[in-house]
Amino acid sequence: MRLSTAFIPTLKEVPAEAHIPSHQLMIRSGLIRPLGAGIYSFLPMGYRVAQKVMGIIREEQNAIGGQEFHLPALNPSEIWEQTGRVEAFGDTMFHIGNREGLVLAPTHEEIMTYHAKQHINSYKDMPQMWYQIQTKFRNEPRPRSGVLRGRQFTMKDAYSLDATEQGLDESYNKQAQAYRNIYERCGIEYFIVGASSGSMGGSASQEFMVASEHGEDTCAVDMQSGYAANIEVATSAVAPVGRVENSAAIEEFETPDARTIDDLIANYNCEEHRCAKSVVYVVSDEIVLFVLRGNDALNEDKVQRATGTDKVRPATDEEIEHTFGAKPGSLGPIGVDTKVRIIVDNLLKDANGLTTGANKTGFHIRNVDLTRDAGDLVYADIRTVEAGEPEPGGSGNALSVVNAIEIGHIFKLGTKYSEALEATFLDENGKANPIIMGSYGIGVERIMACFIEQHHDENGIVWSEALAPYKVQLMSLGAKKSEEVRDTADRLYSELLEAGVEVLFDDRDVSPGFKFKDADLMGMPYQLVVGAKGLANGEVEIKNRATGERKSVLVDTAVQLLSA
Ligand code: ATP
Ligand code: MG
Repeated sequence: MRLSTAFIPTLKEVPAEAHIPSHQLMIRSGLIRPLGAGIYSFLPMGYRVAQKVMGIIREEQNAIGGQEFHLPALNPSEIWEQTGRVEAFGDTMFHIGNREGLVLAPTHEEIMTYHAKQHINSYKDMPQMWYQIQTKFRNEPRPRSGVLRGRQFTMKDAYSLDATEQGLDESYNKQAQAYRNIYERCGIEYFIVGASSGSMGGSASQEFMVASEHGEDTCAVDMQSGYAANIEVATSAVAPVGRVENSAAIEEFETPDARTIDDLIANYNCEEHRCAKSVVYVVSDEIVLFVLRGNDALNEDKVQRATGTDKVRPATDEEIEHTFGAKPGSLGPIGVDTKVRIIVDNLLKDANGLTTGANKTGFHIRNVDLTRDAGDLVYADIRTVEAGEPEPGGSGNALSVVNAIEIGHIFKLGTKYSEALEATFLDENGKANPIIMGSYGIGVERIMACFIEQHHDENGIVWSEALAPYKVQLMSLGAKKSEEVRDTADRLYSELLEAGVEVLFDDRDVSPGFKFKDADLMGMPYQLVVGAKGLANGEVEIKNRATGERKSVLVDTAVQLLSA
């Protein structure tokens, strides 16, 4: 491609709306243009990169027996109603305004299961691995950071169909390996975390993460022991509070100015971890009391798992006073209406010597013994792990808590969708069972943006050969003045094309400085510079964009060197 006729609108200025390097550079180097909030047009250069990413994904999916589909983005909502996901996705799902009963698909579990129901009848029809690379729509509430979170984006989504749990394990492991291959070939540094299955349902799930201060996910990791988990599910080896020797009688005391745990610690001689904090949530219309250690933070994802629903929200002050007869800050698990469910964090299991609110505004009680004084309690892991806590494997290493971008997610779905949509098969004994499924997603744009986050410098993008729009940027310097420069550059251009090298030829009549700046911004792996000075010695220059290394080579060897 000749730059003089190409549409590659590069920008010197950093666009005001872009706050992270990948977003800035994708706009500045002419890969994308914004069209609306969370909506981006891919320009020719950007689409070349997207196609390279999709090519790698496609090869790795085909290598594990994947069969490529292309499903419609426009879906009958009826199918989504049957699995309860119209409600589960809520506002995130786009509904068509002028055609009743149609939605834009945010993912495709339902549609793949629908087709499986039609034609998979026997255990002999499985295993199957189905995938597509296709546009998804999600009404993300806060689309930001460019294509990392779009309202329209491209996902490779794959689905495995198996007759046995063992079959599912095999399919899942194949996908996990395919994902590792994809990220390695794309040149992405990543780590894998255990994750929550969220609205997808199912048992096991892992996320592929890129550490980044701009990430919207939080993970607890210890690279040394290999422990890594999304904060939604992370645990640690912090010791439980346990019991003190003497279980003294409960004693009420006045705490008129204590609203927080810190007030209690500072003014009432309470040990931080033995001040049990009480937090009230509404769980599907039911008031539930959660009790945790001192300053531990309640983890909403864990609350969802402990209660088996994602319909959870903090209770209002009015709801709290109505149920407990006291203001927030004076609540506790003792003397509560027996109809109120109480869920206590595992670290407080059977603990005593605790201080809690008295369920009487401005009063607390000490010497609380959960085994002696409380009614029915359920124990669960409901706290958020913090940096510095020992990782759960027992190595004693401290966890770090890092921000990360999710670039892929694999799930063992089990039978949630096949049961809901009645996709069954006959097993070896002629008995009907629901198909056992897995689901595997990768974001194409996120791979592009994460690659740029990890591979850029102050001058621009540094593409790898695998993802670069072109391998070589050929530049002619002062071609207008020198016929030799013009002819040599033209000749090298044709020879590179003939050798099958993807080359972008900067044949524009602009200054050398301008060409160099654009070439560094666009970031092709190699720059081939043809100028009068070098040609006087029969030489051209090859610059390696990643290392900055430049070397002069004989004109006649350039094509061979670059086509290796
Ligand atoms: P997130 O938690 O970041 O919203 P998700 O867990 O909802 O993502 P999945 O449903 O697991 O995402 O989708 C699979 C993959 O699709 C993700 O790992 C990610 O790479 C990509 N993806 C999801 N949502 C978006 C989006 N809004 N824009 C771009 N890529 C996305
Ligand atoms: Mg996910």
